Amino acid sequence: MSAGAIRRVCVFCGSNTGAQGDYAAAAARLGVLLGERGLGVVYGGGNVGLMGILADAALASGAEVIGVIPEKLVAVELAHRGLSELRVVGSMHERKALMAELADAFIALPGGLGTLDELFETWTWGQLGYHGKPCGLLDVGRYFGPLIAFLDHAVAEGFIRPEHRRMILVETDPARLLDRFSGYEPPRLGKWLERDTR
Ligand code: AMP
Repeated sequence: MSAGAIRRVCVFCGSNTGAQGDYAAAAARLGVLLGERGLGVVYGGGNVGLMGILADAALASGAEVIGVIPEKLVAVELAHRGLSELRVVGSMHERKALMAELADAFIALPGGLGTLDELFETWTWGQLGYHGKPCGLLDVGRYFGPLIAFLDHAVAEGFIRPEHRRMILVETDPARLLDRFSGYEPPRLGKWLERDTR
């Protein structure tokens, strides 16, 4: 199963802007780039933090931007009101499922618990073969360095297979990350196939 054509990219990113200006600049740059490449954007639908910056930049660059947001967050007026489409869902679970269905690839920008949750659930679904879509980290200012080191530790300790670790494409340049998506091949090995039974 190869990744297929990439038409829409789902971006997971912070609902805060973070401590360094580099994060906001990277979110804006990614939004512009997605529009320039004619790619649609799927994201959490918020108007706050890196999410709002990404959405505004992508819209200004001509991208179709679809927000997927649970009604509880709409109710507290955190939804972006200028999107191409705002899909309101009943729960956080439905949101992740719909974002995964609408997108052909995933990028995590710097963010907090929500971003990490979305990244790891999407990656886990890929590991189990529920989808074969590429997943990347945009490592702005080496924000993800400690996480990447931990993932390598988990491989060394026998909890993550090297081929599953390699599923996450890590780049500092968004154009390079998008280029790598096109050639992505998901691992043939499912998590439970050829399981080590020692
Ligand atoms: P965090 O990384 O904890 O700031 O959470 C950001 C991620 O969680 C985004 O990718 C969103 O999908 C979701 N999220 C968190 N806060 C909001 C919000 N206020 N509005 C919309 N989505 C949010």
